[in-house]
Parts: sequence; structure tokens; C-alpha cells
Amino acid sequence: MKRKVLLIYTGGTIGMEKDYETGSLQAFDFGNIFQKIPEMKLIECEVSVYPFKKPLDSSDMGPKEWKMITTHIGKNYENYDGFLILHGTDTMSYTASALSFMLKNLKKPVILTGSQLPIGDLRTDAKENLLTSLYYASLYENEEAVIQEVAVYFEYKLLRGNRTLKYSAEFFDAYRTPNYPDLGQSGVHLNVKKDFLWRNKTSEEFRVDNHISQDVLFWRIFPGMHLNHFSEIPKVRVLVLQVFGSGTIFNTTKAQKTLQSLRDQGTEIVVISQCVSGGISFGKYSNSNIFNEIGAISGQDITAETAITKAMHLLDNPNYEGSFAENFVKNLCGEVSE
Ligand code: ASP
Repeated sequence: MKRKVLLIYTGGTIGMEKDYETGSLQAFDFGNIFQKIPEMKLIECEVSVYPFKKPLDSSDMGPKEWKMITTHIGKNYENYDGFLILHGTDTMSYTASALSFMLKNLKKPVILTGSQLPIGDLRTDAKENLLTSLYYASLYENEEAVIQEVAVYFEYKLLRGNRTLKYSAEFFDAYRTPNYPDLGQSGVHLNVKKDFLWRNKTSEEFRVDNHISQDVLFWRIFPGMHLNHFSEIPKVRVLVLQVFGSGTIFNTTKAQKTLQSLRDQGTEIVVISQCVSGGISFGKYSNSNIFNEIGAISGQDITAETAITKAMHLLDNPNYEGSFAENFVKNLCGEVSE
């Protein structure tokens, strides 16, 4: 039986071609995708294309577009076996993370991919990324989807979406998941590492939860930062604070007072690490004790992209029981190590 895949085209380099007269890149009509990549017809699945009316550079993608994608997937969930999202590479990790929280209890694959070079370029990485993603988006065994989560496929690697970060603006091998193993690899054989795939622990039905709050701020500290700037952090409901190593910050009264007064105003402080690998461990050094004292939340080994989107999703979300902090420390869909 031919599996049905819904391809949602949002924009980015993957959907561009060079105007050979002017040399500039422009979006091409995705309705013609089968002419551009006739090999798509050879894949054992039926593809329907839903292009955004105006393809976007992914720096223009945000909550509105995430909701457009989740709503479209929600409406078409029963009609398709898998979903493939073509996306600009710059913010793909944010979208993948947001989608992983917004699409609850997935039983079908949602794969994001893009490319570093446009599809019409001679040396393009777009074709391989697109064709192999289609394969993963339609992969079923015994009537069950093999991938039941939001994943990113890029340059021969299948990765958990909410663990990815864009690592390179130069290399084809642009994404990494430093705190989680690859979910699969495409070589001579396409493989999937089943032990690492996400499986929902509940038997609840799939649903879309489009709740996203934007009252979240991200702040990165650095040695020599003027503490006047630190004390000027605007009033915000959630501050994602990116600190040193395993959770340290300068041991000055002024910094500590600022953090305490933010907490007194009701700001939730989520602490994450500037290291891309490993995570936060409060109390390991005395320079992290302040976080325990003020009741900050440990982001553990979460990525910055995922800490931000998880905070956006959980803040004031009526669909969750318990406090923001209680929910934030939970592993909701494979985004932190347990
Ligand atoms: N600026 C582009 C984007 O993220 C880059 C790309 O697609 O690779 O939309």
C-alpha cells in the first residue's frame, strides 16, 4: 500500500533557484516540485503539497507560522500517514521544538528538513535531504509508523527535533544533537535506531495544543558584563538565563539582588548552560548556590532553542495541571535526559 505524505513548504533556501541572469536567489513555484525532482515519483508514497502562500526566510517564522503548521497537520492528521515540513535552516530547530510541544501524542512522523544550497544548484544538498525525509515520513512497519515524533533530517542524519541546534552556517552537516544520539542514519542502507525513538507513555489520542505565550526573554551572561545592564533586565514572566558551565554565575551581591528581585516580582528563571554538551547541576559549585536559594528552575541538558519554546508553550497554558516549574522540569517529549 502506498503511504500518503503531506508536504508543507514554508520557505528557506531549499525552495529557491538561481536566476542565472541576475545571479540572485528566488523562490520557485512549489506546485512544480515533481518537475524539479522527478525522482520523487520513484519513492513509494503519494505526496500532496501544501505551500505557504508567501514562502518565508525562516528568520520570519514564529508562533503565527508554527500555529499555521500545527493547525494544518491537525486538520489533516487522519488523512495522511506522515508529514514533511520544508523549512529554512536558520530557525528550524526552534520550529521543531515548538511543534514537538504543540503536537501532542503523535503517532505519525513529522519530519523537518531544508538545505544549505538551493534545489536548483548543481551541488545542492536539497535533493538528498528531501528524498530521504520522504522515506522516513512514510516508513511504517506492521501498520505502525516507525517514527512517532517531530524529527529533523539533514545530511544523512535523522535527529530528534527538540534536541537539535544549527551548528554550522557553512557545512552541509549543519545540525547536531550533542545531548542525544542520532535516531537514524542514511548510508548505503537507511537505518533507524529504534531504541532511541520517542514513544508516548500515555494512550491518549493525538491533539493540537496551540498555546504559545511570548512573555519570555533570553539572556546570556558573560565575564565583564556590566552589572548595571544585568539589573536592567526588563520585567518579564519567564527569563531563560544562559550561564556558565554546569550552572555558575558571578558571585556578586548586585547580581544576586537582581535575581532575587526578579523572583520577588514573580519572574520564573530557567537556567541553562552556555555549553552545548552536558547541562546544569545546581550546587556543584558554590557559584551556583544562588539558583537554589531563589528557586530558579534547572533547564538540565536542554538546548536554548527548546528552553525558549518550552517556556512559551507552558506559560499560562490552561491545559497543564500544576505550576510552571513543576511542568518545566518534566521530560514532556524527549527534550531532556531523565
Ligand atoms: N536564511 C535561510 C532560512 O533559514 C537559510 C536557509 O534556509 O538555509 O530561511
